[in-house]
Amino acid sequence: MATILAVDSSSVEATLATETTWQQALKVAIRDGGELCQRLNLPPELASDRAVADFPVFAPLEYVRRMRAGDCSDPLLRQVLGTAAENVFSDEAALDAVGDAAARRDSGLLQKYDRRVLLMVSGACGVHCRYCFRRHFPYDQLATGKPGWQRAVDEIERDQEIDEVILSGGDPLSVTDGQLAWLVEQLNAIDHVRRIRVHTRFPVVIPQRVCAELLAWVRSSRAAIYFVLHFNHAQEIDAAVAEALRSLRGAGAMLLNQAVLLKGVNDSFAAQRDLCLALIDRQVLPYYLHQLDRVQGTLHFEVADSTARQIVQALREHLPGYGVPKLVREIAGQASKTPVL
Ligand SMILES: *Cc1c(COP(=O)(O)O)cnc(C)c1O
Ligand code: SF4
Repeated sequence: MATILAVDSSSVEATLATETTWQQALKVAIRDGGELCQRLNLPPELASDRAVADFPVFAPLEYVRRMRAGDCSDPLLRQVLGTAAENVFSDEAALDAVGDAAARRDSGLLQKYDRRVLLMVSGACGVHCRYCFRRHFPYDQLATGKPGWQRAVDEIERDQEIDEVILSGGDPLSVTDGQLAWLVEQLNAIDHVRRIRVHTRFPVVIPQRVCAELLAWVRSSRAAIYFVLHFNHAQEIDAAVAEALRSLRGAGAMLLNQAVLLKGVNDSFAAQRDLCLALIDRQVLPYYLHQLDRVQGTLHFEVADSTARQIVQALREHLPGYGVPKLVREIAGQASKTPVL
């Protein structure tokens, strides 16, 4: 296992040059904002200790390598560095903005919408995104591990109305492929489950997560497998990520993307155009562009609806129809994501 002490970017290259497994990548990920700044030749004072008190910095080196050194407004850095902007308390923000608590069933399944249930496989993630709407979620109350998943599977089996299971979290790819293969096998044994959806950011941040064991359970599934990825910026796609996407496609998965519209990250026509083009070039369909959920500590990322609409209208005028995401927001209690019109 590589120990990382040096602060120059050549040490990042050296760490990556060795064949790092995804588990090793998690172990050596950067967990300190000051260290992240130093690596990028930025003043460590940019990082705020208070911002990360309940949601620490967590940035894999594979992701950090795609950031530009010396640029404090790098769109990838902004997604992971906890800054003083998060410490502004707002009356308009909530801890559970999307009504997750009310939608939970006893088994830990979350159901808000017809036909589809969301199974929180794990509370862990491959990266900590500062704007995350689940940053205050009580993950310690999650029934993860086989006993918890078994209760969820049993409930899905009893409910004939469910034809799609969304594996989510946190990030469902935080657990081992042995566990995921077991879960996918259980779900495949239920006739009325037609589709399994995997909501994940792992292929974006740690592309080696798309390993042979993962591809094996994707390939083995009777139920159609959809991956809903989470790219926010074209700069997030490098050669290793593109290769991971190719492998997922090769294993028969349908690939979709959901992005979040974030001030200072991707809130321009050019940024969204470049992202959508980079995605459709690799056969990933832009699915949703989300307006931010108003969660405490994230409002500095918020973009006005009028700006959001203008960006998407410009996308419509310049991209093929299948390359334009639906602009939506999540409103607690609604029967679907709500279009921003
Ligand atoms: C967003 C979401 C879904 C998926 O909705 P789609 O519009 O089908 O992508 C399902 N369940 C929950 C709880 C969700 O938040
Ligand atoms: S990977 Fe997803 S769930 Fe995890 S912190 Fe990022 S946005 Fe939140």
